[in-house]
Amino acid sequence: MHEVSIAEGILSAVDKTLENEPKTKVSSVAVSIGELAGVEIEALLFAWESVTRGTRAEKSVLEINRVPGVAWCMQCGKNVPLHRHGDACPHCGGYQLMPVQGHELKVDSLQVADLEENS
Ligand SMILES: [Zn+2]
Repeated sequence: MHEVSIAEGILSAVDKTLENEPKTKVSSVAVSIGELAGVEIEALLFAWESVTRGTRAEKSVLEINRVPGVAWCMQCGKNVPLHRHGDACPHCGGYQLMPVQGHELKVDSLQVADLEENS
C-alpha cells in the first residue's frame, strides 16, 4: 500500500530530526499533502498509527495540511483550480493544463514532549 511507505517516510524524517534528542517523544507531526499527490488521507492516518506503534511517535497526531491543486491553463492564460489529474479547466473546459501546485508531500514541523521518567 502506497500510504504505508509514505507514513514510513514521514517517520524516518522525524527520526532523523530527533537523532540527537533521545529523551523526547513525538506528540504531533504537521505535514503538507498536495491534492494531486494521490494520497488517501484516511489510509495515511491509519498507516501512521500502525507504523508508529512501538516507536517514540506512537500515539502522536498527524496533522495534515491539504494543499489545493492548481494548474496553469494555456487557453485561459491563468492559474485555475485542479482537483485531480485529467480534469478539464473549470473556465474553458480545455485539457491543456500544467499542474503548478498540489504535488507537495513534506513534513512541515513536529512537536515533541519530554519522555516521562517513571523510575
Ligand atoms: Zn482554461
